[in-house]
Amino acid sequence: MSTPTILLIEDEQHIAEGLIFNLEAEGYRVLWAQSGEKGLERLQQEEITLLVLDLMLPGISGYEVCRRLRVGNPRLPVLILSARAEERDRVKGLKLGADDYLVKPFSLDEFLLRVRGMLKRAQWYQDREVNELVFGGNRIDLRQGTATTARGELTLTEQELKLLRVFAEQPEKILSRGELLQLAWGMDPATETRTLDNFVVRLRRYFETDPAEPRHFLTVRGRGYRFKKQPTDKPSR
Ligand code: CA
Repeated sequence: MSTPTILLIEDEQHIAEGLIFNLEAEGYRVLWAQSGEKGLERLQQEEITLLVLDLMLPGISGYEVCRRLRVGNPRLPVLILSARAEERDRVKGLKLGADDYLVKPFSLDEFLLRVRGMLKRAQWYQDREVNELVFGGNRIDLRQGTATTARGELTLTEQELKLLRVFAEQPEKILSRGELLQLAWGMDPATETRTLDNFVVRLRRYFETDPAEPRHFLTVRGRGYRFKKQPTDKPSR
């Protein structure tokens, strides 16, 4: 893996300097932008591996940066730094496509650990990247996030795509709910699991001939889910 380039968008100089110093000590190449506008410019010009993004910025907010960058760059890992610990801020950030979230003040060790983890995950995806998934009369373009199904064309959300990629990369394998939460969305495996189940229901609705009798996105009782490209003979719930 070549040297990762980290873009830091942070307006507070003393925070930025501390982070840059430590990231460079870890061997990363670091670019610094003091506003969202400047950061978005750098993203156009440079090959960035990971974005570290402050929320409270002088011009456009970190949320807006996240929203704009996701339009053309759905997979860049984004770590949000925020002075606010409120749950709704966290949720808003994650909804806009941030992958992880740290509340200021945070420890440097924690920060570096998150960065390392996110880069590892990004590499994991890259190594196993599958760009197209074809099964059961469906053709899914995992890059564009579009699908052609028996019911017509549809555009997938980033969360749906992330989950689909994990299934696509490990067909036939039984994946526990915890593994899916972690691999797809970088969430704590211990998180309550209804969200995941709801997403699987959605995938069945999009891609199964009979969503009530799934033959591709299978439930494995007590263990998790399994994706099969070739449908099983017997439908299973
Ligand atoms: Ca700030």
